[in-house]
Amino acid sequence: MLERRQFYIDGAWVDPAESRDLPVTDPSTEEEVAIISLGGQADTDRAVAAARAAFDDWAARPMAERIGYLEALLETYEARADAMAEAISLEMGAPIDLARSSQQPAGTGHIQAAIAAAKQFDPVRPLGSHAPTDRILMDPIGVVGMITPWNWPMNQVTLKVAYAAAVGCTMVLKPSEIAPLSSIVFAECVDAAGWPRGVFNMVNGDGAGVGTQLSVHPEVDMVSFTGSTRAGIAITKAAADTLKRVSLELGGKGANLVFADADERAVKRGTRAVFNNTGQSCNAPTRMLVERSIYDDAVEIARQTAEETKVASGHEPGRHIGPVVSQQQWDKVQGLIQQGLDEGARLVAGGLGRPEGLNRGYFVRPTVFADVSNDMTIAREEIFGPVLSIIPFETEEEAVKIANDTEYGLTNYVQSSDAARRVRLAKRLRSGMVEMNGKSRAQGSPFGGMKASGNGREGGVWGLDEFCEVKAVSGWPEDIAAE
Ligand code: NAD
Repeated sequence: MLERRQFYIDGAWVDPAESRDLPVTDPSTEEEVAIISLGGQADTDRAVAAARAAFDDWAARPMAERIGYLEALLETYEARADAMAEAISLEMGAPIDLARSSQQPAGTGHIQAAIAAAKQFDPVRPLGSHAPTDRILMDPIGVVGMITPWNWPMNQVTLKVAYAAAVGCTMVLKPSEIAPLSSIVFAECVDAAGWPRGVFNMVNGDGAGVGTQLSVHPEVDMVSFTGSTRAGIAITKAAADTLKRVSLELGGKGANLVFADADERAVKRGTRAVFNNTGQSCNAPTRMLVERSIYDDAVEIARQTAEETKVASGHEPGRHIGPVVSQQQWDKVQGLIQQGLDEGARLVAGGLGRPEGLNRGYFVRPTVFADVSNDMTIAREEIFGPVLSIIPFETEEEAVKIANDTEYGLTNYVQSSDAARRVRLAKRLRSGMVEMNGKSRAQGSPFGGMKASGNGREGGVWGLDEFCEVKAVSGWPEDIAAE
């Protein structure tokens, strides 16, 4: 049993003020594999005080110096790649090959992208040629509380830490209590990179404890949150009394519009994308909208793809999918599959219960429902499991209407060889991101949603601006251009 009770505060590993143990469960075996501590008010206060004390010095350093610390972090993060992938696989069940090929490298990519964006970042900007003595200063917002989920743990942590640190913020990270081991490894990487004490702090805890304490804390200037819409609303309310900025990256229920002129791999690609990471991705294209003339074929391809999808332990090498993260998540997914059946969707693959031969571990059968209507629960709620809902449509107009008829607005997808149509749809779909014909967004592109998917934008120049206050200055000396 791993013992990981300490927190990283003010550049040192420290014991919690009071001991409150929480076991970490391996979703592949249902065995308890580690013990962490849940922090309390005293731990939160200590971490926030350390971040506050470090802020002035860190914010005043030249950008080039902070970039140097990010480059050092990139090295230590890469040096610990194996340990990181193993921690992620153990805590949230990602198959070890997925952890090595996607989960851990997501962090590498974001640290690299933050460095690239920071090199281009101009903290002192002209307003325009009409106003030679006006400048716009991008000031770091201050102390940031960061609250992250378990599904892509390093993806989320690095999108926040690297970008906030780059612009001069200091921070307290509270990772998911379900998947805390990767953030402990990450804190070790920060420590090994020699960051000045107090710039980065990490306290484990739950939402009701450290999560809420950060949200209401008068010395925290901003909460950057990724997780469920439910928690995003709770955090927004908790943060209101201190008027701190709240940046939200929340759930999704992406539509994937597959037209008759789509490329021949579109349905398979879309189905696989739903099953990737066992369906636990906020941007999964979980509603597949298919033009009627190719509908039957599409359902058949999705069925075959589900049946080809192997499910196995996260500890086994290979390209299978692993378990979902927890008993609670397993129960939720089963409940939603049952609701799909009850509400009359047609089950074409998978269904209730564990896949054959897997009697232990939170394994779910790759499931496809056809003839789903957009008012069914499985089309409205984020399932966060390997469950695809297929909905037929007749016209482009109808497809847009169905796609936008959701409380969410994170990523929508379009599959069509008609260029003019793709442009039309990119403009009309109500989501923070639109991905077309299987082309993923490039490095530096902003990640974020609208409506119940949140208001934040992470990555690229937007990911830096996210952690800044915009300060308008007049009377700036004309001959001093920049920093
Ligand atoms: P969750 O909301 O249950 O927990 C996320 C984090 O919030 C955890 O650290 C948790 O301890 C904390 N938390 C929970 N309640 C809180 C409260 N009242 N106050 C403060 N903190 C609180 O989400 P999860 O189950 O860990 O993650 C899955 C969710 O995250 C899904 O809805 C998924 O779509 C979403 N997600 C969104 C993005 C995105 O960028 N939009 C990315 C990944 C995951």
